[in-house]
Amino acid sequence: METTNLHAAMLCSPGTGHLIPVLELGKRLLTNHFLHVTILVVTTPASSGQAHLLLQTNTGSTQPNIIELPPVDISCLITTTTKVVTQLSIIMREARPAIRSALSNMDPQPTIFVADLFGTESFEIAEELRIPKYTYVPSTAWFTALTSYCPVLDKEIAGQYVDRTEPLRIPGCRPVRPEEVVDPMLDRTDQQYYEYLRMGVELSLFDGILLNTWEDLERKSLEALRGDEILKPPVYAIGPLTKPVEPDSLNTKLLEWLEDQPGESVIFVSFGSGGTLSAEQITELAWGLELSQQRFIWVVRPPIDGHADAAFFKSSDGPDDTNQESNFLPDGFLARTHKVGMVVPMWSPQMRILSHPSVGGFLSHCGWNSTLESLTNGVPIVAWPLYAEQRMNAVVLTEELGVALRTEVLPTKKVVGRREVEKLVRSVMEEGKGMRERAKEVRESGKNALRKGGSSYKSLCELIRDCQNLLNSKDPSK
Ligand code: UDP
Repeated sequence: METTNLHAAMLCSPGTGHLIPVLELGKRLLTNHFLHVTILVVTTPASSGQAHLLLQTNTGSTQPNIIELPPVDISCLITTTTKVVTQLSIIMREARPAIRSALSNMDPQPTIFVADLFGTESFEIAEELRIPKYTYVPSTAWFTALTSYCPVLDKEIAGQYVDRTEPLRIPGCRPVRPEEVVDPMLDRTDQQYYEYLRMGVELSLFDGILLNTWEDLERKSLEALRGDEILKPPVYAIGPLTKPVEPDSLNTKLLEWLEDQPGESVIFVSFGSGGTLSAEQITELAWGLELSQQRFIWVVRPPIDGHADAAFFKSSDGPDDTNQESNFLPDGFLARTHKVGMVVPMWSPQMRILSHPSVGGFLSHCGWNSTLESLTNGVPIVAWPLYAEQRMNAVVLTEELGVALRTEVLPTKKVVGRREVEKLVRSVMEEGKGMRERAKEVRESGKNALRKGGSSYKSLCELIRDCQNLLNSKDPSK
């Protein structure tokens, strides 16, 4: 691989699930493709310091340069009903002067700008600097197709999408069932829908789009994205990029317990960095796990009714020792299950757990990072989507890849009862042989994509070459 003098300035919006894929892309550009990399992290009062904390728990010697921008406090610009996508959009807008200043003062000057999906509005700053601009959607090609095509759907379809009986058609892609659209499309009168539409339009203003997926995983959707009906810019599938396994020093008690369990016998239950359940759902999940008689690790957060993404802006990226879970779990649950289960308050070293040979299933909210972490470890899933594009991810896992089972009704529509939880957990753990085999095939296909000469490796090489050509074409001396 030739060395480059390219300097990639990457822009990351707040949220652990956003930070992880940007960090991993930065590390890959630095380590495998020898770029100079600086990551600008937009922070909130709750997330300030998170990027450096994450890097500390990351193994590996080469790390990109991280600049955390001053926290953006939008508390006076929002109300209790302001949705997550609106909040993120306002934060990224308010951060623009700081982003412009950081980019203009960078030394060496950046030669490529890579913004995550919530940073698309900053494309103008890259234009002012006359550098190639890319956007990184750390999710699926199918989701990207919906996002980019939504402005067309907006013109064609009247009324709420969720009231339709027909699925939403996207050229060349699997149709999206109305109840499975992304959160911002659930209510077309909410501001977050307009922010989402704007992002869909802005995607086409970039010189290219990077996706945390790979050719073999989403061949059809990638082909559709590269046709001329959805998106104009080139699409680079560069995944699966996942965070590394956390060091053993994190939560040693839990890892010691895992060591003592038989192979593939433990189901890991966790709802990402932002997911929360209602009190009633926590009770049913607890009973379901107990009735299933399977070994489990459950990352538990206090209940919040009616807001599945309630923890999104809370900084919960470290273990919590307050033991308050005994207040909201069924009476006697901890005592009755202590031989087969571990309850972890708030946060766990997820990659360490999923990569452990004792783990054989994952009950997951299907955030795309969690999904990739499960797939790259060959672990089958009980899909429990809560917010964002997770309902679409659950469809990919169940209907396209055949590596997951899902609840009869979406968990955001109806409480999943204990008997259904029991059945799903048992099915994945006891009868999930076919799913486990397929998950392992997907794991191998992901590994192949990333290795030198694999499709994702080649895609990043192509991106760098295209970028260099763009730079040359902008340089009047060449
Ligand atoms: N995560 C973790 N421990 C936890 C909960 C989450 O390490 O207890 C990590 C998880 O490994 C993943 C990220 O947080 O990398 C969550 O991202 P995802 O896209 O799955 O969901 P989000 O939190 O954005 O909804």
